[in-house]
Amino acid sequence: MRWKEQVLVLQPYQPGKSKEEVKKQYGLDEIIKLASNENPFGCSEKVVSAIQDFSGSYALYPDGYTTDLRFELAELLKVEANQLIFGNGSDEIIQIIARALLRPGYNTVMASPTFPQYKHNAVIEGAEVREVPLIEGEHDLEGMLAAIDDKTNVVWVCSPNNPTGTYISNHKLLSFLERVPEETLIVLDEAYFEYVVADDYYDAVELIETYKNLIVLRTFSKIYGLASFRVGYGISNSDIIRSLEPVREPFNTNTLAQLAAKTAIQDQEYVKKCRELNRKGLEQFYSFCNEVGLSYSLSQGNFILIDFEVDSNEVFQYLMERGFIVRSGKALGFPTSIRVTVGSEEQNNGVIEVMKEFLQSRVTLTK
Ligand SMILES: *Cc1c(COP(=O)(O)O)cnc(C)c1O
Repeated sequence: MRWKEQVLVLQPYQPGKSKEEVKKQYGLDEIIKLASNENPFGCSEKVVSAIQDFSGSYALYPDGYTTDLRFELAELLKVEANQLIFGNGSDEIIQIIARALLRPGYNTVMASPTFPQYKHNAVIEGAEVREVPLIEGEHDLEGMLAAIDDKTNVVWVCSPNNPTGTYISNHKLLSFLERVPEETLIVLDEAYFEYVVADDYYDAVELIETYKNLIVLRTFSKIYGLASFRVGYGISNSDIIRSLEPVREPFNTNTLAQLAAKTAIQDQEYVKKCRELNRKGLEQFYSFCNEVGLSYSLSQGNFILIDFEVDSNEVFQYLMERGFIVRSGKALGFPTSIRVTVGSEEQNNGVIEVMKEFLQSRVTLTK
């Protein structure tokens, strides 16, 4: 068969070990998963009720225009309904953008390390990938501008960035947006938007009015606690949305997912509560790191990257054998760090205890 060459060199997505697998392997009763930045408190009770009370038909295709969710969201964001595009997770919006704009002979610019799906999809489309290293965990926006040329079709900006948790200030973002050529689509991935508390953060939806080459991506997978339903969305001007729409599959968000997301929007109190609890959780990790002298980056997301200054797989393994699944930094471009999702207060205390034990065991070993 005549496969695209680049497809044969790509690795399929490696899912982490399941809770059940780890339980069995290490004889544990309970496993706490702090690996995928899911909401430790689940979703709003209102969503649970709405799904239980669903009385529609499973035999009918979903609403291909995502009408109810679209209007609910347009109202929340104060945009027009035709300024939104929905995906089976924002992962799918990333794929749609790549399909619509990337191809051989053109390039795309992104930070490194950042969310891996930008590169993955760009490679599939055969575009040249230009990666600009982070500087102290932050996007090097000047470096990214320098990498952009007249063949750059998409530039990806992730703020707060996964896996560092760092954000871009309003001032820095504006200065960047001003200088990106108008033929280049700027994708601003704000998967953790609802967790941000920084004073000098920007209002991305407002920026869409000024910058006609900007699309903002958000998701119901993180603070809304609906990762299993797979709903993400893009916000842009109606021209960009119209150009992307033909690339979208007609029924890409399913009926229950649309209902779940629409109901979740109606409970902004829940979002606020989760944002506040997440801040308290981050503080637990900051105190721990300060106490034991580990370096970390300040996070505006619901996760923290902690540098243990040893092979990250060792820390990962130690924690897993004691019931905590985190992400080893090795595959994320930080070979001595681990990325931990902020859990409930109790979960955070639990994983911090085991981290302390790990540090103790190292001290004993090297004595
Ligand atoms: C989790 C995440 C996504 C993907 O979210 P889905 O909507 O679940 O596909 C996109 N971008 C970043 C930076 C993420 O961390």
